[in-house]
Amino acid sequence: MKQHLFVFCIFLIVSSCNMPGKAPDNISDATNPLFEESTLPYHTIPFDKIKESDFEPAFEKGMADEMKAVDSIAQNPAAPTFENTLVALEKSGQLLDRVNKAFNALTSANTNDHLQKIQEAMAPQLAAHSDSIYMNTRLYQRVDTIYKKLGQLQLDSESRRLVEYYHQKFVMNGAALPDSGKAQLKKLNAEEATLSTKFSNQLLAAAKAGALVVKSPEELAGLSDAEIQAAGEAAKKANHEGYYLLALINTTQQPALQSLRNRDTRKDLFEASWTRAERGDSNDTRKNILRIAAIRQEKARILGFADYASWKLQDQMAKTPQAVNAFLGKLVPAALAKAAAEATDIKAMKLREKDTSGLAPYDWDFYAEKVRKEKYDLDESAIKPYFVLDSVLKNGVFYAATRLYGITFKERTDLPVYQEDVKVYEVFEQDGTPMALFYCDYFKRDNKNGGAWMDNFVTQSKLFHTKPVIVNVCNFAKPVKGQPALLSFDDVTTMFHEFGHALHGLFASQTYPSLSGTSVARDFVEMPSQFNEHWALDSTVLKHYARNHKTGEIIPQVLVDKIRNAATFNQGYAMTELLAAAKLDMQWHLLSSRDSAVTDVDAFEQQALQKNGILISYIPPRYRSSYFLHIWANGYSAGYYAYSWAEMLDHDAYAWFTENGGLKRENGQRFRDMILSRGNSEDLAALYKAFRGREPDITPLLQNRGLIPGKK
Ligand SMILES: [Zn+2]
Repeated sequence: MKQHLFVFCIFLIVSSCNMPGKAPDNISDATNPLFEESTLPYHTIPFDKIKESDFEPAFEKGMADEMKAVDSIAQNPAAPTFENTLVALEKSGQLLDRVNKAFNALTSANTNDHLQKIQEAMAPQLAAHSDSIYMNTRLYQRVDTIYKKLGQLQLDSESRRLVEYYHQKFVMNGAALPDSGKAQLKKLNAEEATLSTKFSNQLLAAAKAGALVVKSPEELAGLSDAEIQAAGEAAKKANHEGYYLLALINTTQQPALQSLRNRDTRKDLFEASWTRAERGDSNDTRKNILRIAAIRQEKARILGFADYASWKLQDQMAKTPQAVNAFLGKLVPAALAKAAAEATDIKAMKLREKDTSGLAPYDWDFYAEKVRKEKYDLDESAIKPYFVLDSVLKNGVFYAATRLYGITFKERTDLPVYQEDVKVYEVFEQDGTPMALFYCDYFKRDNKNGGAWMDNFVTQSKLFHTKPVIVNVCNFAKPVKGQPALLSFDDVTTMFHEFGHALHGLFASQTYPSLSGTSVARDFVEMPSQFNEHWALDSTVLKHYARNHKTGEIIPQVLVDKIRNAATFNQGYAMTELLAAAKLDMQWHLLSSRDSAVTDVDAFEQQALQKNGILISYIPPRYRSSYFLHIWANGYSAGYYAYSWAEMLDHDAYAWFTENGGLKRENGQRFRDMILSRGNSEDLAALYKAFRGREPDITPLLQNRGLIPGKK
């Protein structure tokens, strides 16, 4: 019973669209390829055989099969044992897992109206299916009996962890409550799910309706001709022919604010973003938020917790709101001090440009860009010729992995893919033993979700004798035919990042799929990926992959220095806006389950920021409550801090490498043995401490962000 979990990277927001699609033809097919385990190498997905009409019957059979298996475990007249209950649970739901993986691969990276329609139909059914398993009283009693005897059982450590994992999951989902409590909880879960979906849809509509429309191209001065032309076309599409339209992205700050010279336009664009979901119309999310927050207070009360965050954080590495707040509390002063120094530079630049108005949030990016150019003189177009996708992958990402972990890669062209740009590599151990498949799908398509992510097509498990099959998906610009794909340094970093997730999956060495690879807490999962980013700038690795595609020349040191120096630019601002959002998230979820519900979103938000000393007029939170999709609809409630927490771990882990000779085979092996191969088989805090020899230290994070002095 492996629950599907994508690894979402920090800037990725997945939203579902309400597109009309053709009705699915519901013919159950005896030859449905999803019904049987794949006969391809590594049991990888037979994309060439699966038809869209195969999904619904496979989902239905998958849920029915799993329910049957779960019922027979719950009703088993024999006394509960580890084998007849927990191993049996792990073995249930294999068909459903297979369907989910194939379906998610397509709906995230190569979707269409028909698949979206199936997705909408399946989502509530899958949620109810999960509830009926995790609130099954008899099943829980069996798990609980085993859990209580854990001290007397002869189990290996991973098996013990599996007992704890399931027990916690059942309890967190309310399995131990009396029937009345369960009934209340189910009702609240259903209401919350409906409101969360409503919130996503409102937000999508609010962003669309909130786009800034201007009359003349002069108002857009500062944007490139191509950008102005695109704004004209966007307006035409939205039935504002003759006008210019700037669409809103998810965050508070908007990309165009960096370039727009007209301060009034900047102000209007910022206001459009800031108030997008607070206009008193049908897209106003505030009533919805108040109800979701109240539901969470009520759920915490039913489950016996002081607040929702205390309940939610139990299975995370941080474990308690106190630990999260202590962590954030260490970052806030350093971030504010750096942001204050940056503000001084920006104000000086404003004055030099003869702008005597006060510093507003819509001035920051515009003047920061001028400061950046002046201080670092970093020109993207001068860098790109050194970053050819194919070389970054083979001579950079793969090369670093070979140097650290001994693994090698060979392209395979005999396996089916879902789209022609997808490539497949087989991965080998140092001694030549075949170990995994790695798929990569790097180019942007308009039927692909934004952002970048990693996922498993097959999860490693000794129980099932399966080896990992992994995919990395990104959104890099596709070159015209015959031209090499050139990447920005951000893209290069993204590629290393996603491959870090891939390594976490590739080296998985667990018996139980529920504990395998990247199936770890949110505040740990971004550690291996962010850690892997460090190798992009390692001088040995960099010299090996960054070669000019025309001349073959290795990237000159002067450009490397510029990239390195620019890395800490504006990090005071970036960290402060992130912390403001993380604090907001915590405040909403620290509302006491005994207190009455909040009645005013804006007043609450203002007080929450003020109370935490992070209410700064020109540094608004990265997301405001009314459009904070992560916490109201995407599972990051009391969890937005996780990105920064994992960042602390990744810099601290990299500091260990620096202290021990950097890019060395034995260092990589140690990291593989102690972290990357361990999945969720042990307590993650203990795992990390064993690797580092002490608790994680926040200093390397502060140094790398340039928030305190120290080596990069
Ligand atoms: Zn990530």
